[in-house]
Amino acid sequence: MKTKKCVICNEPIHPKRLEILPNTIKCVSCSTTGKKGGVTVTKGEGDHTYNETIIMEPDEFRKFQEIETMLMGKPFDDEEIPEDDDDEEEETEDNSFLI
Ligand SMILES: [Zn+2]
Repeated sequence: MKTKKCVICNEPIHPKRLEILPNTIKCVSCSTTGKKGGVTVTKGEGDHTYNETIIMEPDEFRKFQEIETMLMGKPFDDEEIPEDDDDEEEETEDNSFLI
């Protein structure tokens, strides 16, 4: 398994963080530039689901929000997302608008 150490505190950087930000050189606690985004994701299936919180850099978080917004079918308040007619991966039927 690939591990990388934080350039500031020398602690190992969380593998999940490296997965999302392969070029990061700082751990979550040392990376305090700008707002961080925390995203809770549900993993596993059936009776074996678990939640994981992923901390992202602002840019990554924004990207994630855009993707999530598209998946959820909610309007994105910042920028217009073009409608995608390709619905091949329809896993959730929750198209409720909460705005
Ligand atoms: Zn650190």
